[in-house]
Parts: sequence; structure tokens; C-alpha cells
Amino acid sequence: MEIERHKLRVHARLDQPTGPEELRARQLRARDMLRGDLEGADLDAYVEERVGITTLEKLLNHARANSIFPATFGLACCAIEMMSTVSPRYDIARFGAEAFRASPRQADLMIISGRVSVKMAPVVRRIYDQMLEPKWAISMGACSSSGGMFSNYAVVQGADKFLPVDVHVPGCPPRPEALLYGFNKLQAQIVGNPDPGWRSRYGAEGSEEWARSGPASRPSGDAAEAYRRAREVLGA
Ligand code: SF4
Repeated sequence: MEIERHKLRVHARLDQPTGPEELRARQLRARDMLRGDLEGADLDAYVEERVGITTLEKLLNHARANSIFPATFGLACCAIEMMSTVSPRYDIARFGAEAFRASPRQADLMIISGRVSVKMAPVVRRIYDQMLEPKWAISMGACSSSGGMFSNYAVVQGADKFLPVDVHVPGCPPRPEALLYGFNKLQAQIVGNPDPGWRSRYGAEGSEEWARSGPASRPSGDAAEAYRRAREVLGA
């Protein structure tokens, strides 16, 4: 997959002024606007060019999708490809996610990069539980998605056996471009669907423990109260 680079201004509604005359016209329009002299069609055009209207929820999701902090950890060979995504060649900073956090309490994305041994699964799950809410998980590579070539008793046959996975990236190992593609899919999911698909699939309201037991399970009284308070703080 080739990565195309575009200048941001190409997609911007406000192009650069084509010459000194247009720049001067813009300056005069801005001055008239500040004085309150702009009226009618001119005022409409000015406002349409400069004002965007959206909902707070969409704004929040836009901010979340473009300021993801992945957790710093890797499990096997796939992790080397994951590390490459922060390099200048692949530059995940373009999507606002270059700050890998060493503490799960400062991270909201887990990239499960490599095979997960049965011994390691509880540790990975604990890190996931300690991460911020809302949080997401990308399963990177054949091993973490399905056990890959390790069809044996020592390796978990798919990370979604012990935590909810939002995006699976195939490959052995997936190239950094593939991980970036999966990351972009996750961003689209966050922006377009604030209720990530796995919550429906796992019958969960959040990423709480009781979700693992399916739709029929219920949280403990303490967990339900903590969840209710968290929702209040979030205003959800
Ligand atoms: S998918 Fe391939 S590269 Fe990734 S951890 Fe498994 S064996 Fe290693």
C-alpha cells in the first residue's frame, strides 16, 4: 500500500488568497465584519466560510479519534513493525497517536502486537482493565488474532478470547502500513459510531468485567454504582 501525502491546505475550504488583491479584499471584509458593517449576502457568505456547526458528541469523538494514546508494550515480532509506525517513514504522528504511554492509566489504545501466551493473557487483560475509558484494542497480526502458526496449548487462539477487540489487522507480520490502515479504520469507527461495534457483539454497555459473561450477566452493586458515576462525570 502506498501512502499518499497531501498538503493540508488542499482539503481546506479556505484556500490561500490567489494574489494581493484578494488578500486585501479579505482584510476589508474582516474589518467590515468587526465593525458590524457586513450585511445581507456578504454576511451570509462570511459566516458560511468561517463557522462550522456540530454537536458536542461529534466534537468529542473527533477529538478522541485524533488524539489516541497507545500503550507502550509489545509481545513478539509484530511489535517491531508496530515500533516502526512512529518512525519518520510511517509517521503515525500524522494521525495524532505518536505519544505511546508507558502507564496504562494514560493510554486508551492497546495494540496487541504478537502472540499471547496463556501465561501472559491475564497480564495483558490486567493492563487493559487499567486503561482509561473509553478504550480500544487492535489485534495486530495472525498470532494475536487467531493463534497464527502456533496451534498449541501454550498460545491463546485469538486475543478476543479474553478481551474485546475492535479491529483485527491480518498478516505475519502486518507491515506498518497495514497497522496504520487498521488504525484509520478504528478512527473512522470512533468518529462514526460512538458505540464501538464490539459492545453490541459482546452484549456490553462499557468494557466492564461482567461483559465477559455475556448479555445475561449482571454487575455487582459496587461495579454498577462506579459505572453510573463514571457515566455522570462523562455526561453520557
Ligand atoms: S503474526 Fe507473525 S510476526 Fe506477528 S507475532 Fe506472530 S509470528 Fe510473529
